Amino acid sequence: MAARPPSPPVEPYRIKVVEKIRLLTREERESALQRAHFNLFNLTSDEVYIDLLTDSGTSAMSDRQWGALMTGDESYAGSRNFQHFERTVKEITGFPYILPAHQGRAAENIFFSSMVKRGDIIPNNMHFDTTQEHVRRNGALPLNVAIKEAYDPTSNHPFKGNMDLPMLQRILKDEAGKVPLVMMTLTNNTGGGQPASLENLREVSRICREAKIPFYLDMCRWAENAFFIREREPGQASLGIAEIGKEMFGLAEGATMSAKKDGLVNIGGFVATRDPALFDKMRELLIVYEGFPTYGGLARRDLEAIAVGLKEAMELDYLSHRISQVRYLGKILDEAGVPFLHPPGGHGIYLDAGAFLSHIPRENLPGQALAVELYREGGVRSVEIGGVMFGSGSDGKDRMELVRLAIPRRVYTSSHLAYVAEVVKSVFARRTSVKGFKMAAASESLRHFTAHFEPL
Ligand SMILES: *Cc1c(COP(=O)(O)O)cnc(C)c1O
Repeated sequence: MAARPPSPPVEPYRIKVVEKIRLLTREERESALQRAHFNLFNLTSDEVYIDLLTDSGTSAMSDRQWGALMTGDESYAGSRNFQHFERTVKEITGFPYILPAHQGRAAENIFFSSMVKRGDIIPNNMHFDTTQEHVRRNGALPLNVAIKEAYDPTSNHPFKGNMDLPMLQRILKDEAGKVPLVMMTLTNNTGGGQPASLENLREVSRICREAKIPFYLDMCRWAENAFFIREREPGQASLGIAEIGKEMFGLAEGATMSAKKDGLVNIGGFVATRDPALFDKMRELLIVYEGFPTYGGLARRDLEAIAVGLKEAMELDYLSHRISQVRYLGKILDEAGVPFLHPPGGHGIYLDAGAFLSHIPRENLPGQALAVELYREGGVRSVEIGGVMFGSGSDGKDRMELVRLAIPRRVYTSSHLAYVAEVVKSVFARRTSVKGFKMAAASESLRHFTAHFEPL
């Protein structure tokens, strides 16, 4: 008898507004792929049925957030909404100095331009693509220092976002004077949305303190990370997300944030610090690049929506449903034997394209081939995270070939995810017929956004 299918997680919200989506015919999808030069970033959203390209800025806002937008006080300086935003970020993080920015990479620009100089080395558990780019553009070397289990898609280590502590200590000793900061990305997006443990954060914080090097967080998905800590780390189950957050942020000197993730908004971000001198320096740059420090490249109403969203992203029923959605998709795929990065992360399933299309050699871009095939099969848009996104340059040593099915927050229901699982399973059943790609044209930096591909 067949195993009972996993039960779909029940949404802790009901629908007030709907947005129509449509599945194109197979022929229409084929010509869309041709027109897009097989780069899914070039598809129009009307050509996509289920869009799992990213969880960034794709959240559905709540009725409370839409209400908040109507209370926008669009004063250039000193807006009420900025005050609410600043108060909320301070309350959650405890960091005293906050600068809003139009999104995460803008915060990264301000932060890394102020902190990093030519010849520096930046350790991070794993650099996200834009983070890596900001480090490089400032003449520094991004080093990924995640534990070795992070590179093994089959390992079920509960905290694959952890930093390799002996490696970090070795770097700080060998490269003394060249490391202006240490960063940890929560959760580790590039490595599968995997969390770091409180214990590991404490140790990294201690090592940094001893070496007198500031420790910063990329806190884009901090609430998801805190949920995993609560669930998996001994002694944390009785704590709320806010309490775990206080502990996490208490270990750091500051953070960069894309509010498009755990801020539940469509645009926005910030950088926060305890260092008044750094704050002054960043504020100068902010005015040049983003605007006055009480709006930072955003409409003031957006700051209000962020203030509400940051709190909603900490609610347990919301987080529990979100992580259950990822696990639900993972469970169906697991039962079909589809290889993906284990355990399921916080914001999506990362298909192991290297194993899925094991007949396609790395240089023929198995990740890109799989992403294209999922669209061809069922109009599902995903993103390659592998050779195309990261090239061979950065610490290519254990580079995985992944295809991320990122789940937007509060957007899709369990039946959408069951459909996605069916699409993946269909491609898996005929996987040996899938062919590789070559890159036809690409830009120097962040090339995955603009590259063209040709089927082999
Ligand atoms: C999305 C993201 C960023 C950049 O944020 P944007 O808002 O997209 O500019 C930085 N770090 C991580 C880990 C991210 O996921």
